[in-house]
Amino acid sequence: MKKVFSVLLLTLIFSACKDSNKKNNITSQNSMNTNHNPLIAESTLPYGAPDFTKINNDHFREALLQGMDEKREIIENIANSTEAATFENTILALEKSGVLLDRVRNVFSALTGAHTNDTLQAVQEEMAPKFSELRDAIYLNDTLFQRVKTLYEKRESLNLDGESLRLLENYFEDFEIAGANLSPENKEILKSYNSRLATLSNTFNKTLLEANNAGAVIFTDKSELEGLSDAELKSLEIKDGQGWKIALQNTTQQPLLQSLKKRETREKLFKAAWLRADGTAQDTKAVITEIAELRAKKGALLGFSNYAEWSLQNTMAKVPENVFKLFKGLVPSATAKAGQEAKEIQEMIQKTGGDFTLAPWDWNHYAEMVRKAKYDLDENQIKPYFELKTVLEKGVFYAAEKLYGISYKARTDIPTYHEDVLVYELFEENGDPLGLFYGDFFSRPSKRGGAWMSNFVDQSKLYNKKPVIYNACNYPKPVAGEPALLTYDEVETMFHEFGHALHGFFADQQYPSLSGTSVARDFVEFPSQFNENWALYPEILKNYALHYKTGEQIPQELIDKIKKSGTFNQGYSLTENLAASNLDMQWHTIGSDIKIEDANAFEKEALHTTKLDVVSAVPPRYRSTYFAHIFGSGYAAGYYSYLWTEMLHHDAYNWFETHGGLTRENGQRLRDMILSRGNTLPLEKMYKDWRGGDPKIEPMLKARGLQ
Ligand SMILES: [Zn+2]
Repeated sequence: MKKVFSVLLLTLIFSACKDSNKKNNITSQNSMNTNHNPLIAESTLPYGAPDFTKINNDHFREALLQGMDEKREIIENIANSTEAATFENTILALEKSGVLLDRVRNVFSALTGAHTNDTLQAVQEEMAPKFSELRDAIYLNDTLFQRVKTLYEKRESLNLDGESLRLLENYFEDFEIAGANLSPENKEILKSYNSRLATLSNTFNKTLLEANNAGAVIFTDKSELEGLSDAELKSLEIKDGQGWKIALQNTTQQPLLQSLKKRETREKLFKAAWLRADGTAQDTKAVITEIAELRAKKGALLGFSNYAEWSLQNTMAKVPENVFKLFKGLVPSATAKAGQEAKEIQEMIQKTGGDFTLAPWDWNHYAEMVRKAKYDLDENQIKPYFELKTVLEKGVFYAAEKLYGISYKARTDIPTYHEDVLVYELFEENGDPLGLFYGDFFSRPSKRGGAWMSNFVDQSKLYNKKPVIYNACNYPKPVAGEPALLTYDEVETMFHEFGHALHGFFADQQYPSLSGTSVARDFVEFPSQFNENWALYPEILKNYALHYKTGEQIPQELIDKIKKSGTFNQGYSLTENLAASNLDMQWHTIGSDIKIEDANAFEKEALHTTKLDVVSAVPPRYRSTYFAHIFGSGYAAGYYSYLWTEMLHHDAYNWFETHGGLTRENGQRLRDMILSRGNTLPLEKMYKDWRGGDPKIEPMLKARGLQ
């Protein structure tokens, strides 16, 4: 876990939660072209924010190609230098290479994720193999590797400060992991694998986006949609009034399944989601099979028995066995709880006159009834208290103020790539500027599913840069004039993504590649999940949960209900997560000689052997065919990280609970010892120093109501 996971990534497709590619931000000496491409010159806006009033689709291809050429040239100069290798002429020079490329890529990644179109997709497709080749030109360049190795071997005698030493170690390990020690023949094979994998991931993403759009379900008879509110119906209406269209979210379960009363409608919607990329015109089975097999071959070529073993080297978990051990510890209590929940739901079905066996598409609908009966908590009762902007300013920002002393100011003068994007400037307690924050909250067809955080500009003292960070979510956009009211889940997501943002904002590193969230996957979700804890903290909740019409504070009674219901459905939620995490690990622990004939059979078997199919009404959170985290972005053999970091964050919150809770002092201590440290220390040490011991699993089980 000593390095950014993205070192292992070969595409420009970015991750679900955080893109942590190595990036620099400064105008390159080689990029002083006087042409009119606004991406090539550094932005003159505050904080170097991208100037979206000038950038258009046609600028990216040219700027990316120029950035790649520049980087390649700098790398060649470093490798072919006749001077003896020094930290400055090799490691620092590497860290400074690709300034233009990284700057353009940050903007490009943001748009291809949050607001893409055919032109950008075509560029993305064209660039994927080029990025892969460029990476290989660096990490498989033996002359360059020998220089890095020379320095690494005498690192103790170089008198480097701690962060510089860590930078050197990271580069060395990156080379090693990328195959720098392979024979020339094997390096060529690896290059061909990497290039093919980049193309396949891109194909997967493109196909899945099409599958999600094609899978939208259209209803022409209003009675089929019984249970939806007028506002919901209105937002689903197709323009000419001929019907209603329910778009697919990227998970297996679809939010509206909770409200839809007609069983046939629910089944139709669920199956559209479940089968979106299986047996349709946008089938991904062949692509994912080829990806998994090729990754296994890559693992073998690099000297490991499978892909996961290779890719976990620098995580906190270290080896697949530790991940499976975590799963094994959780599966019995998760499925036992899910089984109890299924029983309660089945009883509710009978009680309300249903004569059928609980199926996955019934779960959320009847679970909501059980919840109402048992906890008397109705989402529609609480949603009016969660108005988007109030949640953001008086909840998410307020918690950060209480813990870390930061304040905010809306900036309507900073250009954005879409009219829905909100921009804020953040400040330290003493008024010093901290950075710029963009919130892009609403769903649209040009945005991929899920929620994530990334940077437009990375913090680094090397370039005197403060962070420019965005959060992207997929909340349904209300019709004009209506307020954006969030579910409690969506509120939590907002706290989560801003937790990533804080990790980025508090970064205090010299080198951009060690800055902020550039940490291993099984640590990067810790600050974000930890930040979710404040959503329900009484002092915070009372401040932001205000009725959108009356401004009235959420009643204590409702707060109690929300808290009480926090353990509701946790058997389901943990089981669906475990199922997806397990699928990921199964796909990535196959041997290199395995030929997968049938992706669906593989999936079924993977769930069966791990006893994750014992509650048949609980499907995986993502099926293999639409599991974008692992086939389209950077979470291959890494989806377990959510569970791993869940263990960390409950353990950490347990520390707060026993040390006075939400105080400025406690916040500062976390900021000083973890949130500001980026990747400058071994993460297990960083955590242990702050916590005073290793993380324990008990607080997680307790929080989930499984103990
Ligand atoms: Zn996250």
